[in-house]
Amino acid sequence: MNVLLYQAVKKFTKMSKRSPTSVAESTDSKKPKHWSLGLLESMKDPESIVKKTDQCVVIKDKYPKAKIHYLILPLSDINSIYKLNSSHVNLLEEFNKLFKEMQEEVNLPLRAGFHAVPSMMRLHMHVISKDMISPCLKTKVHWNSFTTDFFRPYEEILQELKENGSIKKISPEQHKSLMSSELQCNQCSFKPKTMPQLKQHLLTHVK
Ligand code: AMP
Ligand code: ZN
Repeated sequence: MNVLLYQAVKKFTKMSKRSPTSVAESTDSKKPKHWSLGLLESMKDPESIVKKTDQCVVIKDKYPKAKIHYLILPLSDINSIYKLNSSHVNLLEEFNKLFKEMQEEVNLPLRAGFHAVPSMMRLHMHVISKDMISPCLKTKVHWNSFTTDFFRPYEEILQELKENGSIKKISPEQHKSLMSSELQCNQCSFKPKTMPQLKQHLLTHVK
């Protein structure tokens, strides 16, 4: 590694150890923000917000993986499901209230859940329709992150939190194995060989 690259990596590593809020809310507006802080920006963007309550905000997913794809986030600084404890049961119930409201507003079946290994900072619950029809759905990783056990349904997370007071992480081996699962249609037994074949097939499920 050359010296400049080493210094840049070292500087970034230091930056990413800071609290996400302190970086995203930095007073220096020219300072570049790491991509993993993007939800903190979208939570403040009126174009992106669809609903807001005392405790939560619902935003549009910027790269939707289905016809309907929203994210529900807490206003409080909770990084992920792995920071939840028993005191957050009420917050999750508020997420569910918002999810039910959204389900009533649309005529497509919606699912609610969390990625076992989230890539973006700030706890966020995905609310996504099961069609999975979207130009942003491109890769096997995208597909498997919503259709395998990598997608942890809301009810499962709530139950685990009530029973254990925390959420257990998956192992790196489980993560790898879920991401490399064979493609499988989420609405029938068809096993497509490629993503283009899967995307074409999904259209046959549209009524
Ligand atoms: P996760 O893997 O659970 O962390 O998913 C993060 C989600 O955030 C993905 O569905 C992305 O499409 C979405 N996303 C990424 N950047 C933004 C952004 N700036 N605003 C809104 N949604 C975003
Ligand atoms: Zn199918």
